[in-house]
Formats: sequence, structure tokens, C-alpha cells
Amino acid sequence: MDLKKCEYWFIVGSQDLYGDETLRQVAEHARVMADDFNKDPLLPGTVILKPTAITPQMILCLFEEANASGSCAGIITWMHTFSPSKMWIHGLSVNRKPLLHLHTQFNRDIPWASINMDFMNLNQSAHGDREHGYIHTRMRLPRKVVAGFWKDEELRGRIGVWMRAAAAKKDGRESVVIRLGDNMREVAVTEGDKVEAQIKFGWQINTWGIGEVAERLSKVTDAHANKLAEEYDASYELAPDLKQEGKVRKAVLEQAKIEIVLKEMLEVECAGAFTTTFQDLYGLPQLPGLACQRLMEQGYGFGAEGDWKQSMLTRAAKVMAANLRGGVSFMEDYTYHFEPGKEAALGSHMLEICPSIAGTKPCLEVHPLSIGGKADPARLVFDAAPGPAVLATLIDLGQRFRMIVNEIETIKIENAMPKLPVARALWKPYPGLSGAAEAWILAGGTHHSVYSSALTSEYFRDWAEMNEIEFVLIDKDTNVNRLRDELRWGEAYWSAR
Ligand code: MN
Repeated sequence: MDLKKCEYWFIVGSQDLYGDETLRQVAEHARVMADDFNKDPLLPGTVILKPTAITPQMILCLFEEANASGSCAGIITWMHTFSPSKMWIHGLSVNRKPLLHLHTQFNRDIPWASINMDFMNLNQSAHGDREHGYIHTRMRLPRKVVAGFWKDEELRGRIGVWMRAAAAKKDGRESVVIRLGDNMREVAVTEGDKVEAQIKFGWQINTWGIGEVAERLSKVTDAHANKLAEEYDASYELAPDLKQEGKVRKAVLEQAKIEIVLKEMLEVECAGAFTTTFQDLYGLPQLPGLACQRLMEQGYGFGAEGDWKQSMLTRAAKVMAANLRGGVSFMEDYTYHFEPGKEAALGSHMLEICPSIAGTKPCLEVHPLSIGGKADPARLVFDAAPGPAVLATLIDLGQRFRMIVNEIETIKIENAMPKLPVARALWKPYPGLSGAAEAWILAGGTHHSVYSSALTSEYFRDWAEMNEIEFVLIDKDTNVNRLRDELRWGEAYWSAR
């Protein structure tokens, strides 16, 4: 995932009222800013400066070009001078790219001694950007507004967040989700409208027979599987019974074969994500465990029990988190600790937690699985790294999708759990365990989610905004009664759209 390949077009607005000298300076300032943005690792994409926008025809052309460009992931606008906003209506009404309105000015300080009316004409974004913001609001356009001095690190971080969200949006429009088997029988929350999801997010969510996996598995040689298993040996701790040849070692080779086959299928279909289900494993020796963990680690989205929504969301989060510290994993709320003062939630899954979130070196182990009726699957066991993290989920409310995000603090697991052979994370959700659980449940959040220690809620908010879906945040400031009202107001807002 090379985010530098994503282009972000920087369109600086003005008009021809000020004369050539002012326009020359506007273009020069914009060039200096674009060059500096491109040197800053906080901005992961490539900023492409476009000619200063001064007429309606030109603005329309720029937006039409951006729509047609396969590399353009988003548009950044800034009004260096005053740019009358009726000039922008045609361009903005055809725009299909994520929009960031950067509200800044070239100079940091007022030049007290030399300031005159020429300076005021040149540096008037303080009111030019208000005219620009008005037309976005008047046209009900989704966008992010970032205000502040353009060299400020915090401001650049926020542009970087938006760039990553826009890259994930672009990736969704080019991605396939491979569903191996249907959703788990009778489960409601993992269901949803796949046609609407493709219209909304671009993801093509289609099914492949598990028989194809089984058939391909029979063709993978032991030598090929052994080679991959050597990579496992070098990357992870090995349970003692894995160090010699035998039944247990063979179970690892079976997972290696599953990883090889799933990777092949993902590559052939240009897929970014996949799902499995323990209720449809015909012809497979084990539930894919280690294989799913490894593929998530390589950047693929994953959802268990046919959960294609969380699978696509895991993929989106993987794109947003590319090369950031911390990780992204599929996750499930498992069980609670209600001891007063030490309330926490234990998250895990049957097997499929991504090692990118690990705080301890993952240990490769083989144990029986009490569900699915298959052979003992190999899996990586570890504790998630302590620190701030988020949980995000996507639900289908019938007429629309809703994203729910909970800010959490993952804590160190102080007690050994020798009989729990799965990777796990222990966290304290904000505003507290009961408040967070009540808010999540009132909002209709699923037991499945995307866990990330690399991302903050701002990434998911930006991503939801540009995909035009509802976003519900549960954080330190959440008051459950107020949230209940917000959900009801949201119902009216989203039904009116
Ligand atoms: Mn599950």
C-alpha cells in the first residue's frame, strides 16, 4: 500500500480582480506550500498543485478532470484571496472526490510595521474562505474543514488523517470482498444489503464456493507448505510440541496450505478482503485460523461468520493505517470483568486476531476448537499491546449504514490465562464499561468490530463523512441519555436526505 501513489489536488481560489502581480504571488505561495507538504511525512499522499482557479469554466474543468483521474484521491481547496463562490457551484456540483477545505494563510504573523492595502488584498483568506465555506454548507456538501497555520504540525496531522481516509475510500472503489460461504445461520447483525454497500462504498461483495478452496488445497505441495512454515518458525515463538515432526506439526502445514490458497484467490480476483464461516468448511481440514491472522497481517480485510461489513471495514482501516505504528484487527467482544474499579472487556475471537496489534511475541500453537467439528487448528496466541485504541463497526439499519466508534484504553493483562488458547485484548472503554456498553447497544452496534491501535476516531469520522454515512462516537464525553436523543435526531436527519 503505497499512499504516495494517491494524488491530492490542491486548488487555490482567487479571481481576476486583483491584477497579474497579485495572482503571480498567489501562485508562488501555493507552489511553496505544495512543495513543503510533499516533503512532510505527516502527509502520506502526493499534493499536486493546480493552476490558480479564477473563472467558473476553469473550476468546472478542474473538478471534471479530477473525477476522470484514476490517481486523484481527493481535493484540497483554499481561498488565498476572495473567490466569489457562485463561480464554484458548477464545479462543486459535479465533484465526486473527497473534499478538504484548508483554511489558512501564507504568513503566520501580521506584519505590523509594513501592512498596507496591497497586503490586505493579497492575504484575505480570513474572509475569502468564509465565502467558500458558505457555498459548501449551502450545497450540503460533505467535507472536512481544517483551520490553522499551514506549517503547524497538528494541522498537518489532521490533513494526513483525511488523506489516509480518502485513500481508503478510493481503495474501496477498486476492491472485491471474497465471501467463502454465507453468513452464520440465524445471525441478524452480520446481514445487510450488499447492493447498497456497493453503491455506497464501491465494494464488490461476491461469493466463491468453499469447494474451490478445497480443490486448490489438494494441489499445494508439501514442499511449498514447508517453505512457508519455515517463515512461521522464524517469525513466532513455537509451542514445544511444534518443534518436532508429528500430528501437531502437520496441523501447521495444513494452515500454511490454506494461507497459500486464500492468498492465490485474493490475488487472482484483486480482492482486498474476505470472509469465512465455520458452518461451511466442506472439504477443509480445519477452520482457517493462522491463515486468516497472517493474511490480515499482510493488509487484507477479514470478517468471521460471513461478516462482510466488518471485513471491508478492516480493509479500509488497514489502508488508513499503512506504515503507521500500531495495528488493525478484526475483533469481537467476548467477556467482561466487573470487579469494581477494575472494570474491563476482554476481546478476542475463535482464532482470527491479527498479530499487528500484538504486544507480546505471538506464539504458534495447535489446540482443539469446540465449534465446527473439524481438526485442531493452528493459531497465533498473544496479548494486544497496551495503549489507546478504537473499536469501529458498521451496521445496516435498513435504509442506511451507521458507523459506531468507541474510544478505548487497552491495558496490560496482569493475570495469566493458561487455558485460553487465543489472541486477546483487554480494554477499558470510554466513558466507562457500563456507559460504553449501553451506548453501543442503543446505537445497535454488533459484537464484531475493527480494533485499531494505529488509528483514532478522527480517521473513521473522516471516512464516514466522505462515504456519506452516519457516524456515532462513544468517547470520554459520552452521556448515554444525550446519545439516545442524538440517535433519534439522527433518524430524522438521515431519513430527510
Ligand atoms: Mn464472531
